[in-house]
Amino acid sequence: MYLKKLTLRGFKSFASATTLVFEPGITCVVGPNGSGKSNVVDALSWVMGEQGAKTLRGGKMEDVIFAGTAKRAPLGRAEVELTIDNTDGALPIEYAEVTITRTMFRSGGSEYAINGTPARLLDVQELLSDSGIGREMHVIVGQGQLDAILQATPESRRGFIEEAAGVLKHRKRKEKALRKLESTNANLERLQDLVGELQ
Ligand code: ATP
Repeated sequence: MYLKKLTLRGFKSFASATTLVFEPGITCVVGPNGSGKSNVVDALSWVMGEQGAKTLRGGKMEDVIFAGTAKRAPLGRAEVELTIDNTDGALPIEYAEVTITRTMFRSGGSEYAINGTPARLLDVQELLSDSGIGREMHVIVGQGQLDAILQATPESRRGFIEEAAGVLKHRKRKEKALRKLESTNANLERLQDLVGELQ
């Protein structure tokens, strides 16, 4: 699995449709300060379902929509399309190529699509969770985040590693199952009380 193509339309400084094509291996994006390199990384987080405006370096989610310049009027919507090569089947979907699209209108709300079919945020998260791309997007390490990871407590560092390894998902499922077991046990106890009263 590798990221194949990223198209930005009206996302942050990318007012016109801009497509970046990646090859397997390492990709470097170079450019002068303020030219939009970090905006490309923000677009990757955003299309994969990022919900925090701060993580995207904005005050509110609407800030991802092109806000206009002296020469160009603001736009009413932002759209990012990410194509992932899935020939190795790392994503649990029967397509060799998966395209995730996220669209947002100034009026609010996000729309997602997987290979052109409307999807929910949950569908996108579930699709990506087995690939090691977690909800917290720890695979994307932004400026300054490396320091934060190095200075994290052993417990939270373990959390980063567990999420990347896909353990966190199973830990959450285990916690949910244990809660269910607890409430079933409580129900059983109540039932036994009732049976005892009726005998
Ligand atoms: P550096 O090398 O300094 O980190 P960079 O190449 O990573 O810079 P970015 O931070 O990606 O640059 O881009 C910053 C630019 O994006 C700024 O000029 C900012 O005005 C512009 N920008 C951010 N959000 C929007 C928006 N919603 N609409 C228009 N322009 C935006």
